[in-house]
Amino acid sequence: MRHDEGCVVCGRPCRAGRSPRTVACGLCGATFESIEVCEAGHAICERCRAVPAEDYIAAVCAATTERDPVALARRLMLHPAVQIHGPEHHFLVPAVLLAAHANATGEREALPARLREARRRSRTLTGCLGGTHGDCAAAVGAGVFVSALTGATPLSRIEWRRSNLATARALVRIAEAGGPRCCKRCAFLALIETADFVAETFGVRIPIASPVVCTHFERNAECLRLDCQFFPRPSRARTAAPERAGPTTRTGPKEKRPAGRAAPAKKAVARKSSARKR
Ligand SMILES: [Zn+2]
Ligand SMILES: [Zn+2]
Repeated sequence: MRHDEGCVVCGRPCRAGRSPRTVACGLCGATFESIEVCEAGHAICERCRAVPAEDYIAAVCAATTERDPVALARRLMLHPAVQIHGPEHHFLVPAVLLAAHANATGEREALPARLREARRRSRTLTGCLGGTHGDCAAAVGAGVFVSALTGATPLSRIEWRRSNLATARALVRIAEAGGPRCCKRCAFLALIETADFVAETFGVRIPIASPVVCTHFERNAECLRLDCQFFPRPSRARTAAPERAGPTTRTGPKEKRPAGRAAPAKKAVARKSSARKR
């Protein structure tokens, strides 16, 4: 497992010192000797690095006060157990949405039970469904979020409708962007679309700072680079963090163009090689 995108706590670069020093783990607080700390002084103990992805996602989402689900997702994606592509994203999407919703509404008492239920429901999703079933699990994660939020069951009426609509909306957004698979791109698109859905359906504003910039492209051999709307542009890279600005600009299915087509790309050759994949 690689960990070269930065600090798990804050995302800043990590630097190795000349000799080990005693630091407090940025996740559990235990003190230990570390030769490497981030620019803000964070270090993570070996025990926390070894925590399984879903345990880590559940613990952070239960405790965070973050209202921006993309900012929270980006932070979770820095943990070494969260792979570049992997089924942990199936729980990550509903978990960050539940946490963001709880922090936006103050419904924090209900959060632990909702997280447990979302984890249980997302466990049945297998990998790569977008390519094999036409049903990307990041989009299903949006449906899991709404079903866990509303307590939907197979016998529900309005909750059943809303859960399926949440998946449908996220799936259209993800489908418009096209393949190949990318758990980061699909997760970001599902979160952005679902924030809009929550505002329209429940009247709850879940803020997402713009622009959303991916920091994982170097680990993704199939990254669309300039054809992905989250690939860092030079002007974006300088302003990527911190992410607490305003709502994200929508460039989704209503505009009928795939991700990456919103901004004019200078490299026409790169664009030519990936015509719309529908
Ligand atoms: Zn840090
Ligand atoms: Zn620790």
